[in-house]
Amino acid sequence: MESPVSIFWFRRDLRLNDNHGLYSALQSGLPVLPVFIFDTAILKGLEPGDFRVNFIHGTISALHRQLKALGSGLSVFHDEPVKAFEKLIARFQVKAIYVNHDYEPYAKKRDEKVRRLLAGKGIDFRTFKDQVLFEGSEAVKSDGTPYSVFTPYSRKWLELKNQAGVPAYPSELFGDNFLKYEAPGIPDLELMGFRGITMVYPPKEISPETLAQYASARDIPGLDNTSKLGLHLRFGTISVRDCIRAGELYSASWLNELIWREFFMQILDHYPHVVKGAFKKEYDRIQWRNNEEEFKRWCEGTTGYPLVDAGMRQLNETGFMHNRVRMVTAGFLTKHLLIDWRWGEAYFAARLLDFELSSNNGNWQWAAGSGCDAAPYFRIFNPAAQALKFDSKGTYIRRWVSEFDTSAYPVPVVDHSFARARCMTTYSMALKP
Ligand code: FAD
Repeated sequence: MESPVSIFWFRRDLRLNDNHGLYSALQSGLPVLPVFIFDTAILKGLEPGDFRVNFIHGTISALHRQLKALGSGLSVFHDEPVKAFEKLIARFQVKAIYVNHDYEPYAKKRDEKVRRLLAGKGIDFRTFKDQVLFEGSEAVKSDGTPYSVFTPYSRKWLELKNQAGVPAYPSELFGDNFLKYEAPGIPDLELMGFRGITMVYPPKEISPETLAQYASARDIPGLDNTSKLGLHLRFGTISVRDCIRAGELYSASWLNELIWREFFMQILDHYPHVVKGAFKKEYDRIQWRNNEEEFKRWCEGTTGYPLVDAGMRQLNETGFMHNRVRMVTAGFLTKHLLIDWRWGEAYFAARLLDFELSSNNGNWQWAAGSGCDAAPYFRIFNPAAQALKFDSKGTYIRRWVSEFDTSAYPVPVVDHSFARARCMTTYSMALKP
């Protein structure tokens, strides 16, 4: 048997720098074998052209090259995690496995299975906080219960951050501690059932100029002045602590959005029922119309409401949609068309490059009115008024809806005033005590 090693298992922290779990592994005194697993249980639910799998494949290929330059390399599996670890344990003398926490219900179950396997073999499973500044029961009320309203949560989060500061874990300084070995190659995308796609992903640079203008420009979709870092935060190709430090330097308003991200993560962690149903359970009584033809028109961006259609077409073509327009399209689906928010949530989940279960779910429930700290149900966006306010010159709309202002553009799928009244009646019926 070879000499003992520690393993670092990359999941949604695909970077060598400022990585808490990796930093701890590299300081463990044992050489570190870096591992990535294409989890067959996750991949089987995805389409062959999924952009995210393509992004992950490109990212881990780059990580592999960086590690090879250090005399090591990434051991990559296409398997169920427990089976991959059985193979690793059979091949190496593994003393401990290091990972960063993941708060999604599936990930928690997966980690528990791996922990059990390792415990049976006397191997430590060491876990670290990396993807958020505050997790679980750190930013909670004084009686220890979680916050379900954003403003007091954010106040607490800022207070804790100002007390404790933002730590750094300079894993990049310990590259010599990776195991020197002949790493196998990385499985081909095609062999795993996916297509290679040529796609330009947003860069992972934090732009001080974008952040400096963020507060005034963030709501104007035509200006496109947001960071586009969601994808990198999702897969950990950027460190959230670096982002927080940039927010402290350049934009309190941007920092506030990072707090929203953590707010929804702790909601999912504490209230996993939100994955399937409303945060406020009485909203599960709403009688959704769920008209399939109207859903199709929403998906393809032919509702006859230009801002909604522009947003849906941006999503379909690029895997991204501006936040203001996400709010308008989600509100339109749930309130104007009375289609179950879970249909829209699933559509976004399949297409957003920055898809994050906690943020997607939290924001959909916000739009539907069923979430924690949600918009009250009687606040119904008027998509035409939203377009006038946030895209007054039609810059964004024209970018995505080429036939706008021509006879080829569809007539509205529903009249706004009629839909508004129908929504008020439906919601009030469901919510009456
Ligand atoms: P920026 O505006 O530059 O913000 C920086 C980062 O802050 C984002 O990358 C994100 O991590 C976080 N953030 C910003 N706004 C929010 C928010 N409202 N809630 C939680 N985190 C936020 N965000 C996702 O990351 N994944 C999703 O799947 C997702 N689905 C959404 C669905 C709906 C219906 C709505 C209304 C919003 C959704 N958001 C989601 C939130 C937000 O729209 C995106 O985070 C943002 O548009 C991503 O663009 P950006 O990276 O340029 O963000």
